[in-house]
Order: sequence, then C-alpha cells, then structure tokens
Amino acid sequence: MQIKVDCPQCGGDIVFEEEIEVVRCHYCGSTNQISGKSGQPRFMLPPRWTATQCQHRISSLLSSKGAWRWKKKGLYLVYAPYWRIMGMVFHWLLGKKEAISPTGARSWDDAKELKTKLFDFSFPAYKEPDLDLASLGVRTSAIPLQLFHHTRLSGNDIVLPVEISLREATEHSSSFLTYGFSDRNFRVEFKDTQLLGEVYSLVYFPFWVLEVEGEDRSGLLIIDGVANRIRKTVWDQNMASFFQEHKPSEVAANFSDLRLIPFVCPVCGWDLPFSPTSKTHVCATCTRAWVENAGTYQEVEYQLVAVPKKFEHATRYMPFWDLRIQIYTPDGVLKNRSGLRTLLPNLPAGRESGKDADSILFLIPAFKIRSTNALSKLATLFCVNPPSQQLRPKEALEKEKFEGVCLGGEEAEQLARVALISMVPRYNRRARNIVKKSKITVETSRLIYYPFYRKGLYFREANSNHPIQRGTVVLGTD
Ligand SMILES: [Zn+2]
Ligand SMILES: [Zn+2]
Repeated sequence: MQIKVDCPQCGGDIVFEEEIEVVRCHYCGSTNQISGKSGQPRFMLPPRWTATQCQHRISSLLSSKGAWRWKKKGLYLVYAPYWRIMGMVFHWLLGKKEAISPTGARSWDDAKELKTKLFDFSFPAYKEPDLDLASLGVRTSAIPLQLFHHTRLSGNDIVLPVEISLREATEHSSSFLTYGFSDRNFRVEFKDTQLLGEVYSLVYFPFWVLEVEGEDRSGLLIIDGVANRIRKTVWDQNMASFFQEHKPSEVAANFSDLRLIPFVCPVCGWDLPFSPTSKTHVCATCTRAWVENAGTYQEVEYQLVAVPKKFEHATRYMPFWDLRIQIYTPDGVLKNRSGLRTLLPNLPAGRESGKDADSILFLIPAFKIRSTNALSKLATLFCVNPPSQQLRPKEALEKEKFEGVCLGGEEAEQLARVALISMVPRYNRRARNIVKKSKITVETSRLIYYPFYRKGLYFREANSNHPIQRGTVVLGTD
C-alpha cells in the first residue's frame, strides 16, 4: 500500500510504501523522516470518478439495463471509515500430529509447527447503514492513500462517524489472526499467537450515492468509489432516511497526524545516513543513534561488538536487540541460563556468571529479514548460542556500514517468546507444559551491533560464524 503526502519544503507529491520510514523528495531532493506512523493515522481514498464521470457512466449503465426511465436526482459523495490492521503473525502449534506409515498404519506423534503470515485486515468502523462492503480487500493497493483532512472534503460530502472503538477493533481482528492455519491432522495441546509490529489505521473509503426516481418508487444506488461498481440498490429510502445522524458512542480513538520532520542529527546538524526502512539512525559524524518519537528524535543507547583479532574480511554491522530476560513459571522464576537449563537440558552451557548471573540473554535480530521463518530461525540460533560480546569503542565509525533497525524493541520482546518456544524440543512434554504457563519479563533491553561478513551465499557473524542466507536479508545500504 502506498501513501501520498506533500513535501514540507516544496509542496510536491511524495508517494511512498507504507513500511518506509525516511523519504526523499523527487522534486527538491530534501530528505525527511515520517513521524506519527505508530499512532493511529487516518487516511482517505479519493474516488476514481469525478461527479460528472459518475453521472455519465451510471446513466449509460442504467440505460443498457433498461432502467432508462429512472430519473436521476442528487449525487453525493459519502466517506465511510474502515479500520485497517497490519502486522506479522507468528503462530506456534505444539501437540500431536497424525502420521501415516507406508503400510497405512496411523499414529499420533509429538509435533511442533510454526506458522507465519502477513496480516492485512480491514472492516467497517461504522455500524450503519450497510453499504455492502465488508472489507477494503485489495482496494488500498489500487490508489495511494492520502492523509485524511477536512480541507480535502467539499461542503456536500458526508463523513460517517467512527462507531467502533480501537479496543473493539483490536478484539474483533484478533479472532482472525490464525484464520487459515487450522489443520485437521493436528491435535493442539499448546498454541501461542503473536502479532508483531501491528499498526492500526483508519481509512475513509468513498462511495458515490445516487438518488433515483422510478415511475412508482424512489431509491438510492450505492457505488463503490474505487472499484467504480454499483454495490447495492436501496429502495424506498432517501439520503436523509438512509444516512441518519449517528453519534459515536464513545471517543473511538486518538488519531495521530502523519508529518515529515527534517532528517538531520539534532546534535551536530548533519544529514543522517539515508536508509529508508530503518527506525534508528546512527549519525556518522557524532556516532549517536536516534529514533523518532512523537515528532522529535530521542537518543538510543547502543553497543558495538568487536571483530576477532587478525580478522581480514570486510564487515557490516547488523543490529540485534539484547534482551536480559527472566521467565516466570508456575514452579518458580528462571533467572539465568543454568535455571533455563533445568527446563531445557540440551541448551549449551555458558554465560552463567558475572552480569549474566541474574538474567538470561536473548538476542533478537532487528535488521530487515524477508522471511518470517528465517527471522525466527536466526533469533533462535542467537538465543541458544549467543556469540562473544567483546565490545569495541565507538571511534572511527565513518567508514563502517550500519544496517537499519526495522524491528522495534516491543516487537523484539514478542519475538523472544517465539524464540523461547522454538527452543523447546517437541518431545519434551515437561518443558512444553511449563512454557505454556510461563511469562517472560524483560529486565533490560538495548541495541547491540554485531559484525557480519559475506561468505558465499551467507552473511556470517564474525565471532561465531552464525549464518543467515544473504537472499533473505534486505540491505538498506550497499
Ligand atoms: Zn520537495
Ligand atoms: Zn550527529
């Protein structure tokens, strides 16, 4: 889905994909950070037909249907609000799966499956009237969304109020998260669903409504303003009776305004390195890292892991979330790695003393990985076997390459649970039952960059050689 905004410098159109964080204007070349994406932004879709085109096209459509005797009266543009929820679903299933042997014998074996998908769900945020459009479907990919603003409306346009609150929208959409994942051959004993990076927005969708009058009755034609199709005909109603005044029952949500802020380091004033999908930006001049929050930049702490001695490959820094966690179980708190090993005996030893004595280190990749499965695999690898964290000073960083941070800190905490479940062997029923009833608490969270080098089809972490396939990594810089 694309979003269209005005350039704050020159007023030109800037159109960008919704996952983009930093945009460059094609007209004046200025670079800006997009602010307010994580609130609940409001968008609108403009109708594809103008009022004149609509009148004209509907006339020819009606005459071809033999409805030429209908007299057309008023034509109205009605904007109806839809909630739209986007995110990534990680759904763990643990239980028994039916297996059929070559001889045809059936058996139920311990099984474990991770199912993932992109979640893009929309539904009406108004209750009445029924406009016969239950979901926006692919309509949002047809035209760039514009920011919703009253100045974009003309005096006669009707805007239906939002009657479904954000809380109701969250509840309603959560029942659809695992839609399509059911498997009759799987007897589920434990499931866990995480929706990562969810963004709630409101999209005002246009309908043309044409009042018509036949020989003995009158009614309304409801026309989808993007697909340009008649959705329904409502007889014996007029505009006033069909679109009665509705008052929203409660404050539906606080909406954020999307706006653009200059993409420069707030301390030294230099341009930040252009990396369109990154949420965090490391200033090459003063080496501070910044994250946008409510229209300003906030500094974020980070650390850099050193390469081993006599290392000769060129490296690039890939960001991870370094989470120090504890796990609350019905049998007590697992405070460190040796505690975790009472639950997961196969977990390699190590990192059980010093500052690792009262927390468990979980490392969650924060750079952009195309495949959800590759992301969860790499997270698990780094949690099971955390590489050395010999740090290097933040000096002479001008020539270093930093990959963008695309996964936020909260998402990393959700992914920690996905990684914990993936560390449970499918046949370890005790661990399964305990993890099912457990809760992760994050003691501290910080950003840490590991040096990776390129070898064959892989990027490998310089200290551990942990690999990730190059093809699944989306690089922000070359
Ligand atoms: Zn511009
Ligand atoms: Zn700076």
